Amino acid sequence: MSDIIQLLPDHVANQIAAGEVVQRPASVVKELLENAIDAKATHIKLIIKEAGKTLIQVIDDGIGMSVTDARLSFERHATSKIKNAEDLFQLNTKGFRGEALASIAAIAHVELKTKQEKDEVGTEIKIEGSDVISQEVCVTPKGTSISVKNLFYNIPARRNFLKSNSVELRHIIDEFHRVAMVHEDIKFDMYHNGSEIFSLPVANHRQRIVHIFGAKTNEKLVPIDEETDLVKIIGFVCKPEFAKRTRGEQFFFVNNRFIKSAYLNHGVNSAFEGLLKEKTHPSYFIYLTVDPKSIDINIHPTKTEIKFDDEHALYAMLRSTIKHSLGQFNVAPILDFNRDASMDTPYEYKSKMVKTPTIEVDRSFNPFKEDKKDNIPSTSKNYTDFKKESAGSWENLYAGLDTSEISSKPIENDFSSIEFESSEVTGSLFTADQEAELEHHTTYQLRRKYIITTIKSGMVIIHQNRAHHRVLYEEVLRNITMASAVSQQLLFPLKLSFSSQEIRILKEVQEHLENTGFVFGDITDTDVSISGIPTATTESEVSVLLEKLINDIEQEVPDSGFSLTDLLARSISGSIAVKTGIDLAKEQQQHIVNSLFACTEPTITPDNKPTFITLTVDDIDKKF
Ligand code: ADP
Ligand code: MG
Repeated sequence: MSDIIQLLPDHVANQIAAGEVVQRPASVVKELLENAIDAKATHIKLIIKEAGKTLIQVIDDGIGMSVTDARLSFERHATSKIKNAEDLFQLNTKGFRGEALASIAAIAHVELKTKQEKDEVGTEIKIEGSDVISQEVCVTPKGTSISVKNLFYNIPARRNFLKSNSVELRHIIDEFHRVAMVHEDIKFDMYHNGSEIFSLPVANHRQRIVHIFGAKTNEKLVPIDEETDLVKIIGFVCKPEFAKRTRGEQFFFVNNRFIKSAYLNHGVNSAFEGLLKEKTHPSYFIYLTVDPKSIDINIHPTKTEIKFDDEHALYAMLRSTIKHSLGQFNVAPILDFNRDASMDTPYEYKSKMVKTPTIEVDRSFNPFKEDKKDNIPSTSKNYTDFKKESAGSWENLYAGLDTSEISSKPIENDFSSIEFESSEVTGSLFTADQEAELEHHTTYQLRRKYIITTIKSGMVIIHQNRAHHRVLYEEVLRNITMASAVSQQLLFPLKLSFSSQEIRILKEVQEHLENTGFVFGDITDTDVSISGIPTATTESEVSVLLEKLINDIEQEVPDSGFSLTDLLARSISGSIAVKTGIDLAKEQQQHIVNSLFACTEPTITPDNKPTFITLTVDDIDKKF
């Protein structure tokens, strides 16, 4: 048979990459601004026409490019910013994948003019859909100007998918703010359809924020400032009386990158506990500096998530720093009757190493929070039906096992008992008998992160968070598609405030959410009332869950019904899956193990990460 595999031509590869890098005009703005900053610009101009649909131009006075570099910059994986893998861990630059310009040039008409200081003349290059149309010598000032015209001209589906000009412009302005807020030492100007909409002189942090958000912001800001071995925190929170009904002005920057973190957001909110009017959200502008080695920046260019090594400590520190500042600036805590006294003396912690906090956040996290007897009836229906369908498929996992042997003589400490357990379960997951049965295959929890259990051929190490993510993902997905979810009625409907943009997104997915167990009451332009929630969640998680969901939808811009369902299931299950760091009781561990191996696809999370590994006796023998 003849060979059938071919390498994709570059322009196709670039178009595919562009799908990831460039979701909308704002993505182009972000990439171009970041390149200008990396080029050490001191003055950056952003010029937009029709919300970026016809023109996005960035002009900088940075180091510019040589003739060769100018041409190379549009090649995929062409970057001046890393030379080897080591560099990845000490990044001081914004970009490093060398994909942005290649991707943008694949889906737009691009004109580049650039000149280095030492050169007499510069270079001008025109590219359309990855084809170089012309390359000429030109007269241009030091620095670089890149114009991106007719974005997505060759991908009509994408172009049609763009939202109204006001929505796209909003996204562009958001990106502009996020970049400008951390580079107060650079002058920025922004124009839209010929009029200047921002002119930001070189300033300090506070002035920059005031220039962006308006003069009246100044009196609202309370500075925060703290430094420990783990993190340096500076920035501002707004005084509680200025809290807003929408979550508009909430910014975290980590090492000068804008990030989103529902968890840290919760930390900030908790510092405001008792100080805010109902349904209001504090504004904040918080800059964290941490050792780059202690974070895992999701190197996907459009994502803003980040993983911290010690998220809990960060949370605690953020909370106490803000509490302290609010107290010091006399905005504290007349209303805060049940404040945590240990948080009132934050001074000593400069000298102390940070302890893992014993705090807050619904650590007792949902699915298992209730007494198991209460917990079971609501979810067992789903789990059991589900297990029946898929019972058996888990066995394929253990291809190495002699299955005939398993079925003829069941072995304790083996997953063969799972099938028995899952097919038996009907009304309640743990009857006395079954509990006795479960005891047989002992599980252990390692470092509040892994669940360890044995199988015939050795041992299995299960990642508790990922495993649970998989289990819940399948459950939520099934609920969405079959509209089979059970919901828990809230005694008092929950009222949550959102921006109009967020409300719009929620309305788009309302029906799906209802299938997972949400029951919505009134939805106005600013508020959503919720009278029922999925059984696997708790009331206190709901706002974080929805916030994360909206964020995920904004980030991923799902473009078909199918991927939307998947995204919803992934996001919701990710929010409520039991986290690393949570102690699990034996029956909770076993419940996760059993449910995992009853899944259709137990080996990986919805994001394709492994959920468990096995270590065979052979592997172990080899170590001796
Ligand atoms: P990355 O930023 O990840 O390196 P890009 O595709 O964004 O990849 O840019 C490719 C290269 O082009 C950069 O590494 C840089 O050397 C050069 N470059 C891009 N924009 C500019 C600019 N405004 N000024 C100077 N050099 C630039
Ligand atoms: Mg770049």
